[in-house]
Amino acid sequence: MRQHIGVLGGTFDPVHRGHLRMAVELVECMQFDKLLLVPVGTPPHRNVPQASAAQRLAMLRLAIRGKPRLVVDDRECRKASVAYTFDTLAELRAQRGAACAISFCVGSDAFLGMHRWHRWRELPGLAHIVVMTRPGWDIPQDLGDLEAWRHRFCRDADEAQDVTGSAPQRLREAVSGRIVFPPLTPVDISATRVRRRVAGGQSPGLLVPGAVWRYIQRNALYQCADSTDPA
Ligand code: ATP
Repeated sequence: MRQHIGVLGGTFDPVHRGHLRMAVELVECMQFDKLLLVPVGTPPHRNVPQASAAQRLAMLRLAIRGKPRLVVDDRECRKASVAYTFDTLAELRAQRGAACAISFCVGSDAFLGMHRWHRWRELPGLAHIVVMTRPGWDIPQDLGDLEAWRHRFCRDADEAQDVTGSAPQRLREAVSGRIVFPPLTPVDISATRVRRRVAGGQSPGLLVPGAVWRYIQRNALYQCADSTDPA
């Protein structure tokens, strides 16, 4: 059977239980052989992360312990320059070969801004796109520039919407180019919320795994509110 690799990029500043829940659910319902978690080094679309690349990688490694299909991939952190998803997916495609299905997983908030990404129109040529529901970020009727991708959507009940049935097969049938919206359990957690709680002197509670919280404390991370975070 064709290999199917998932890719979840992000800042992971820090990794939280929203990421982890999505990752575990995705592996299960999309039947990925592996899901690569790819923290960005220098993000093109947002502010510089508070924690260093080494610290964000360390927290991710702690968070995925005991989850064998989740793999931390540090390729973007090793780059000195801005990391573009296009380049990462092109690199993965070259490494994995033309026969491997690759699915780039993205939260609905980030998906809605993808028309501003570097070489966005070419992304479906490299990978499928799996959109993860995020509370407060429903997919609107009119997608503006992203309408160019509508013909790629598999949303009908008899198609990829039924993730337990046809979606994994439909994605494995091709190596790239399809866009699916699996009904994952929405989890209302963001890294912004975690950073704010820590800066406010509170424990993040269940928002992050215990080992990540201990790492944050040991390294005195997120002590100051981000000046750029929305209030
Ligand atoms: P911040 O609050 O700093 O913006 P974040 O919580 O959005 O961070 P990122 O590391 O930027 O975390 O997210 C990486 C990817 O995971 C993005 O595609 C994002 O949309 C998605 N994501 C993050 N949290 C969730 C969540 N709770 N549910 C669904 N997708 C999520």
